[in-house]
Amino acid sequence: MSNSILTEVSLEGTSPYELRVGLSENVSESTVKKALELGDIGFLHSFTTGSAVDGPGIRVVAWTAGCQFRCLYCHNPDTWHMMNGMAVPIDRAIAEISRYRHGLKVMSGGFTLSGGEPLMQDRFAARLLTAAKSMGIHTALDTNGFLGERLSGQELEQIDVVLLDIKAWDPASHKNVTGKDVGPTLDFALRLAKHGRAIWLRYVLVPGVTDDEKDIDQIAAFAGALGNVQRVDVLPFHQLGRHKWEKLGINYALNKVSPPAAELVDRVCRQFRAAGLKAH
Ligand code: SF4
Repeated sequence: MSNSILTEVSLEGTSPYELRVGLSENVSESTVKKALELGDIGFLHSFTTGSAVDGPGIRVVAWTAGCQFRCLYCHNPDTWHMMNGMAVPIDRAIAEISRYRHGLKVMSGGFTLSGGEPLMQDRFAARLLTAAKSMGIHTALDTNGFLGERLSGQELEQIDVVLLDIKAWDPASHKNVTGKDVGPTLDFALRLAKHGRAIWLRYVLVPGVTDDEKDIDQIAAFAGALGNVQRVDVLPFHQLGRHKWEKLGINYALNKVSPPAAELVDRVCRQFRAAGLKAH
């Protein structure tokens, strides 16, 4: 590992809510280019341990930096830019996962690659997930699915479950919420179904933004027809990431939005259940 890649910040984070910026500012453009081509270096916000919400069992999670979406409710806007992350050689990232391999097996847990958007660094993602899988560790990829076509069929086999976010159904609404088109995410979901890879669908519920009944019915019908969606997590919007928007000086449109009422969360869960899905 070259010294330009080492940083003083600990790879292990207390939580993904820790604000981290500019950790790779000194990494040269050619190093970044090569890293993206080969996946020999990843740009990571942090590793965290002990998560019970990022896949089955207790998880070790690597949070990547870099995302092409700009979700109105993003709680980690410091992960939008890859250069905010720490440049971590693949061997070091693999060694970090390896430290927990026995514990994860005992606890029926595993490794989750999250972000940011992990497939912005698809070569690093593929190498890391493959390495975890070859250690006998359960693997999960948490993704918005937009760049799913970057993974080969063989690489999909290395992922036990994909935590797939569908942010909205209606194209205009999806663009409003994320800044990008919904089509590639839906194509990836169809491809995962074709390959028989399990999906845990995630839906972030924001009152007045993503609570449209018809839109949710459409997502539910699509997900129900896929045949590989094992569960749906309806994630109530919260304000935990607001301080990051403020500190980064980015305009935050949801300042006045409250978390959804329990009745609304129930209604959305019922909509997914009506399509034959397990929703929580
Ligand atoms: S996809 Fe995730 S990381 Fe990217 S902007 Fe949306 S919420 Fe944030």
